[in-house]
Parts: sequence; C-alpha cells; structure tokens
Amino acid sequence: MDKVKVTGLKKSYGSNEVLKGIDMEVREGEVVCVIGPSGSGKSTFLRCLNLLEEITAGKVVVDDHDLSDKKSDINKIRENIGMVFQHFNLFPHKTVLQNITFAPVELKKQTKAEAEKTAMGLLERVGLSDKANAFPASLSGGQKQRVAIARALAMNPDVMLFDEPTSALDPEMVGEVLGVMQDLAREGMTMIIVTHEMGFAREVGNRVIFMDGGYIVEEGTPEEVFGNPKHERTISFLEKVL
Ligand code: ADP
Ligand code: MG
Repeated sequence: MDKVKVTGLKKSYGSNEVLKGIDMEVREGEVVCVIGPSGSGKSTFLRCLNLLEEITAGKVVVDDHDLSDKKSDINKIRENIGMVFQHFNLFPHKTVLQNITFAPVELKKQTKAEAEKTAMGLLERVGLSDKANAFPASLSGGQKQRVAIARALAMNPDVMLFDEPTSALDPEMVGEVLGVMQDLAREGMTMIIVTHEMGFAREVGNRVIFMDGGYIVEEGTPEEVFGNPKHERTISFLEKVL
C-alpha cells in the first residue's frame, strides 16, 4: 500500500520554479533516502509533503488524504506526519518533557498524565530518560535531535520526514542520532530522509532518490544508485561525495 503518493508536483517561488514535476510513491514501512546537491529542491520537496509550503501544481496524497485538495483538513493530516529538522527547532523555554507533551496535549486532547507517560517511554527509547526536566540549552546537539525525534513520535505519526537531521551535528554525535533512526526503520516506520550520510542511506534505505535541478534524476535500490549509477549527473555527484 502507498503511504505517500506524489504526482506531477511543482513548486515555484515567484518566477523561480524549484520543483519541476516530481512523481514518486512510498510504500508502508519503506525507508526512502533523498540525496542531491545543495539547491536541488530536497527541502522544498519535504516541506510540500506536509504543506509547510503551498503546492503550485500536482497532487500529494498521504494515507489516502489528498493534501492538495483545499477541502482537506490539513491540520488533522499533518498530525500524522512527523518532521525533524536540521536545527532541531525545540521550544527553548520548555523542558524536554514539556517539548514532547505540548502537541499531544494541545492537539490530541490527551491528558497531561497520559502525554507524560508516553513521553517518558519515548525518552527511554532515545536514551534520554534522565533529561526529562532539562532545558534544551543544556543538551548537546545529538541529545537535542533525539528529543526532536521523540517529540515527533509523540504524535504517533504514520510517516516521518527528516531534513538533514545530522548536518548540524559534531561528527561524534552523528552516530547516536542515526542509531535512533535505524531503530525506527527496523520497527517499520515509513520514513523519507534527506541526508548526506551516504553510508546510512546505503545501509538503512530501501530506496535512494537522487534529485537535481528540481527533478528526480534517478532512483533505485542503494545497490543500484550507489553501485551502478546510470545518469551522468548522479555519477558526478557521487564522485564528489563518496
Ligand atoms: P536543497 O534542500 O536541495 O538544498 P531547497 O529546497 O532548500 O534545496 O532550495 C531549492 C531552491 O529553492 C533554491 O534555489 C532556493 O533558493 C529556493 N528556495 C527555497 N525556499 C525558498 C523560499 N522560501 N523563497 C524563495 N526561494 C526559496
Ligand atoms: Mg535543504
């Protein structure tokens, strides 16, 4: 079953067409890694998948809900799509626990006690049980990103989107975040991950998509894309990053 289906997606900022017609689908439980040069439209693409950007043309369907249909309840749909950003985007004036319980209590009408119980379970999962009452400023980058992942999971999403989740981290912290993502993948979470971690994409991704200039230029299994890239632009990109 397709969790995400994108057809003819275009996005322009003024006269600058950034996405020029994207077609792709993601099946339930699939881990899709998106790679490509800076400015190729990767972040814009992810942001269109939960309508952080208004779609210029085309169709985005998540869980059988049409995001491009003006009549859809976008906020309800968005609750089922978790997003993790490069720069964590935690609430600085809330504790770790409050960061995680805020949306479930506000949006899902969970009681505070229920939300805190869930949050403690999630903190355990990401290895941060002892940080529940800490403020984000006292955490390392890797810890902040693990909190951000726990926060997204607290809404019990069907799909998780990651936009370069390890790009802002010191090298020694990359592994702890990728480890949490790898666990999620093993548990069957449907994930779309923009990343420069080619080793991770190769090992954890079921499929790799190479974007350039607002198009999907090439896609396939990690073995196909990394081992035997077909398009000249994929080959020259991989030569630079591998
Ligand atoms: P990537 O994530 O692959 O580096 P982006 O999706 O961030 O690429 O950007 C693709 C292009 O879209 C860039 O040329 C960028 O300048 C442009 N762009 C992105 N966001 C905006 C915006 N909010 N307003 C105008 N142009 C934007
Ligand atoms: Mg980007």
